[in-house]
Amino acid sequence: MEEVLFKPNFSGWKDVTVFPKEMREKMEEGIPWISVELSRMFESRRGDTFKAILETEDGLKFETVLMGNATEQWTVCVSSQVGCAMRCVFCATGAMGLKRSLTADEITDQIRFWRAFLSERGGEAGRISNVVFMGMGEPLANVENVKRAINVWLKNTDLGPTHITVSTVGVLKVMEQILTDREWPPVRIAVSLHSADQEERAKIVPSTEPGFLEKLADWCHKYAQELGNRHHHLTFEYTLIQGVNDSVEQAEKLARFLEKAGKPKLNVIPLNVVTGKTMMKSSQERIDRFKAVILKHGIDVTQRRTMGDDIAAACGQLATQAAGCEQRS
Ligand code: SAH
Repeated sequence: MEEVLFKPNFSGWKDVTVFPKEMREKMEEGIPWISVELSRMFESRRGDTFKAILETEDGLKFETVLMGNATEQWTVCVSSQVGCAMRCVFCATGAMGLKRSLTADEITDQIRFWRAFLSERGGEAGRISNVVFMGMGEPLANVENVKRAINVWLKNTDLGPTHITVSTVGVLKVMEQILTDREWPPVRIAVSLHSADQEERAKIVPSTEPGFLEKLADWCHKYAQELGNRHHHLTFEYTLIQGVNDSVEQAEKLARFLEKAGKPKLNVIPLNVVTGKTMMKSSQERIDRFKAVILKHGIDVTQRRTMGDDIAAACGQLATQAAGCEQRS
């Protein structure tokens, strides 16, 4: 029955005409067509980014973001939890704490929500080509529901697994399980590193466990062994914070760590400033210097484009008012 939920022209049980009319009317009354409801929508000045605050049936609010690119394809940034327990110091979601994990339906329905939004806009609305788990929450702290939602998308939409990225703070226990889990889909994995120094990382990512970097390097090799052909689908993310983790020495140390881990790709993210926090984003000059060191070691490095920062929709800026955090728009 799940397929009907993804039919492009269906907007409610009323459209599922394989069911008798009476049954459809009952379903319309008793079963929600979608598990989340729009509470508020924001559009960026450039019109290329939308942020929706969605409300769950039990009245919790969380955010999801739609980002466009030049070819009318869209990337959706989904949330896996309302809030987050990881408390990374530069992240607005972390400051909210964890309210609860989202259900598999609430994750799945973020894509259904944006598909309906795009189709309502009409015309050449474009398609959703990519999904990233970079909204609120730590996906590997809600791995069963994340896995279920991904498998539903893979079955019912034209999204391919290499167009889905699960970004994790590095929950090693779950990362180990994934290696042998047959139900784990062959999606991309991005690990949020932010520092290649154990002590420094623990200061900015408090969930860092003892011996994290050593264990992570080992895991990368196991990942390459177990899932060899997926090896190139592993990326490390590194948010650059002025004067905290962006020096040439830190870049050198990172390059050595990446070499040890089998040279996964690196994606640097200029810090998005979060209200109430004093950290600043690195200047482009420092970012370029940092990237040059990594490149010199023959490691692929890309820089994430900032989108939607005028509506507090950029990485790490998602925090809903309901939780007592300030909405900047
Ligand atoms: N819990 C997941 C998803 C978080 S959001 C994880 O930790 O990976 C995706 C990325 O944005 C992560 O790398 C996260 O560390 C980063 N991020 C968080 N706050 C940020 C900020 N203020 N500026 C830039 N990147 C940030």
